[in-house]
Amino acid sequence: MIVGTMAFDAIETPFGKVDKIIGGSATYAAWAASHFVSPIKQVSIIGGDFPAEEIELLKAKDVWFDGVEQLPNDKSFFWSGKYHLDMNNRDTLITDLNVLAKFNPKVPENYQDCDYVMLANLMPSLQFSVIKQLRERPAFLIMDTMNFWMETAMEGLLEVLPHVDLLLVNESEARQLSGEVSLVRAAEKIRAMGPRYIIIKKGEHGALLFYENQLFAAPALPIADVIDPTGAGDSFGGGFIGYLARTGDLSYSNMKAAVVIGSAMASFCVEQFGPQALKTIQPLDIADRVSQFLELMSVDIEVSLFI
Ligand code: AMP
Repeated sequence: MIVGTMAFDAIETPFGKVDKIIGGSATYAAWAASHFVSPIKQVSIIGGDFPAEEIELLKAKDVWFDGVEQLPNDKSFFWSGKYHLDMNNRDTLITDLNVLAKFNPKVPENYQDCDYVMLANLMPSLQFSVIKQLRERPAFLIMDTMNFWMETAMEGLLEVLPHVDLLLVNESEARQLSGEVSLVRAAEKIRAMGPRYIIIKKGEHGALLFYENQLFAAPALPIADVIDPTGAGDSFGGGFIGYLARTGDLSYSNMKAAVVIGSAMASFCVEQFGPQALKTIQPLDIADRVSQFLELMSVDIEVSLFI
């Protein structure tokens, strides 16, 4: 199950500008996860302006819409952002909640059996409302959030954290949430807020997975032409939870593998504006990309040499 926004985005990067393309945290996450698992049970809200053909494309990948409410007379959530030259930082220019202001998510009866749940970026109170509707605790529940909610709904955010297994944040969000500059200390503090696992995304510098006293670091694949980083975090999350659902293995070693899969899906995402690349990749592209990651990460050093 994926819960989050389905939206229109206007994005400006040093390489171009788009005025109104499909986006939203749940859209990216669903496209990424759809390469690993089906069905995907989507919970979101859209306006009458959300294109029918986008819905059909997702449905063709076995994304269920029973939990997606459409308000015909309202506009979809709209977000606009502008990236800095390094592409790791961006400014949010506009957040128009539109239909999101009326959202009261309802988990349909036929979603109650979901074992793997991603609460993608959304108002914390709505993320919590979904958790409260689940009769049984899922096998694994991950949650994403962003600075916007830390600034406008910190109390609600702190209320949800104890109920999730893993929190996914980028480095500036980790610092903002914890008040710590060091990411190691930030992860420690966030763990004390509830989640057992913390993933800190570092854009082009990869991702860190913290669990108990263990730490795993995955690189990001150096991509010659990063066109648009929007949705990279959601694609990471969708790939991560999709892979866990596909393998049904919640061991720490499989979590590390899932971090690499998430990184691979994020690397596709940034190659084009919007979720376009995630829509067109094929299984062989994914296998090839994951092999590139393995190569990038592999090294043999005979440590006994130094002893
Ligand atoms: P990411 O780049 O992974 O942080 O995700 C960007 C996507 O999140 C965009 O497609 C936006 O539509 C969506 N988004 C932006 N701001 C918010 C917000 N405050 N809550 C939920 N989704 C958002």
